[in-house]
Amino acid sequence: MSVPKDKMTFYPSKARRSKALESWFAYYNQAFFGNKLKPVTLYWYEFRKVNRHGVTMFDQGTTRSTAILVNKNLKNASCYALQTLLHEMIHMKKPRAMHGPAFHKEKLRLLKAGAYNNIV
Ligand SMILES: [Zn+2]
Repeated sequence: MSVPKDKMTFYPSKARRSKALESWFAYYNQAFFGNKLKPVTLYWYEFRKVNRHGVTMFDQGTTRSTAILVNKNLKNASCYALQTLLHEMIHMKKPRAMHGPAFHKEKLRLLKAGAYNNIV
């Protein structure tokens, strides 16, 4: 899920920075995105909606991403957490695609490149 920053309030008290997610981000960025994504801060986040898996935060009115929030309930379900991370990284790469054709094209590229091996 991708929501522009102005549409979702970020509550720092509900966020916990995750070095583990940041390591996975760095790995995926290098292995599958040619290191082209600008590093962002990664958080486990307590969403108000429990079924929300993740969100990419953007600077208001821009396509510049600043953070990825992953539902803290996925912390012990690493496959889902990593699928969510990849989903949000697609939003970073294709900030205007939402969940349209360009998004799915990129997801298919990642699938073929092996990014989802061992996590689906
Ligand atoms: Zn999404």
